[in-house]
Amino acid sequence: MYKILFITLTFLITAQTKILAQQKSTYIKAGLLYDSKSNTLLKNKLIEIQGERIIAITDFKTLPKTQQVIDLSEYTVLPGLIDAHTHVLFSQEAQEDFAEHSVHSLTMESDALRVLRGSKRAKSYVDQGITSIKDLGNSGIYLDVSLRDAINEGSILGPRIFASGPILAAEGGQIYGVLPEHQDIIGLEYRIISGPEDAKNAVNEHVNQNVDVIKICADNIPNKTYLTVDEIKSVVNTAHAYHLKVTAHSITNQSAWNAIEAGVDGIEHGFNLADSTLVKMAEKNIYLVPTENSRAYMDTYAKLAGYNPNELGWIDSYIKKMKDRLHRAIDLGVPIVAGSDNYTDIKVSRGESSKDMFRYYAEAGMKPLDILQSSTYISAVHLNKTNDIGYIAPQAYADIIAVKGDLIHNFITTINSVVFVMKGGDVYINTTD
Ligand SMILES: [Zn+2]
Repeated sequence: MYKILFITLTFLITAQTKILAQQKSTYIKAGLLYDSKSNTLLKNKLIEIQGERIIAITDFKTLPKTQQVIDLSEYTVLPGLIDAHTHVLFSQEAQEDFAEHSVHSLTMESDALRVLRGSKRAKSYVDQGITSIKDLGNSGIYLDVSLRDAINEGSILGPRIFASGPILAAEGGQIYGVLPEHQDIIGLEYRIISGPEDAKNAVNEHVNQNVDVIKICADNIPNKTYLTVDEIKSVVNTAHAYHLKVTAHSITNQSAWNAIEAGVDGIEHGFNLADSTLVKMAEKNIYLVPTENSRAYMDTYAKLAGYNPNELGWIDSYIKKMKDRLHRAIDLGVPIVAGSDNYTDIKVSRGESSKDMFRYYAEAGMKPLDILQSSTYISAVHLNKTNDIGYIAPQAYADIIAVKGDLIHNFITTINSVVFVMKGGDVYINTTD
């Protein structure tokens, strides 16, 4: 059995090498190329691609004649963007209550319907130049993994999905108000943890279903339950043994502190992080995914949700508080990873909605290239994927986009003017002609 397997593998590797040797190169001329590692813009670079990977970065003058060339010399070329916090299989209306919508979806929306709807949302990311997403739960029982596999095998179009499977959470998950006799419903959306040993089992189940990352709810606000430090430690130790990162949803400062004590790799949201917690994150190189929204998004949301236009003072205090938290995190040296967490239907495509994160980070005072680095290289680093995504470099996937305009002086308009999208060497969009 093993011998046959070995022979098969040897044959496959040889066949693969032969295919590579016969492949023709495609060249991209980049007028400006964003080097996401050094966080600089380079002029007149030539990207050579074979199959789904980049093989070399050189200068225009090295371009061989009679080769296939994609001329992006009038544009700025970037690695495909990464949204590190999505919920492709979840969508609610602005006026809907999260728990009520969840119960409704879990009892009245079939998995098939949910995945088909999710696949449309997934495609919309690629349309916006977001070629990878980290999808963090609220996706039924591994429907995110199914969607990822369907995209990877080419059955449907979509971004690379790094899927978490069901979120690991304490009793009740995030769905509040469900009666004890109906608690089974929660298990359709979350993996409920009861004790450190069970936490280990949960990670093993996830590994067995081929998840890419582990997501926990350090707290379940507004539910009062939370994972204990020992439970989170057990999750982290098991996940790290499989080289999987653990990222923690956290609303309260205490739950973030618990998660950090237990050794998680990242904190999602972190709305209420104290300076002492941020200092600890910086010391341990734990990233923060700030998932807030821009002023324009909040205004749209408030209108759709039916708020009284005279009572929108809370938006000002929300924006002020979140700007302050982002600044403190940056000043104290916490790595920032870009993520949207946009799952409310604000009547634009999901990909378009996700891009509001760029507007928010810019409004909060982050510089354009720093925002781009948070949505490319830094994001890839914290997923252990720098050899694959988030960086235009030899060996990486040819996930390459181009934008029209001046990124430095006109960031939002430019990042929203995507004229070219390539994923894995395949051109999805090219409106440069
Ligand atoms: Zn989320």
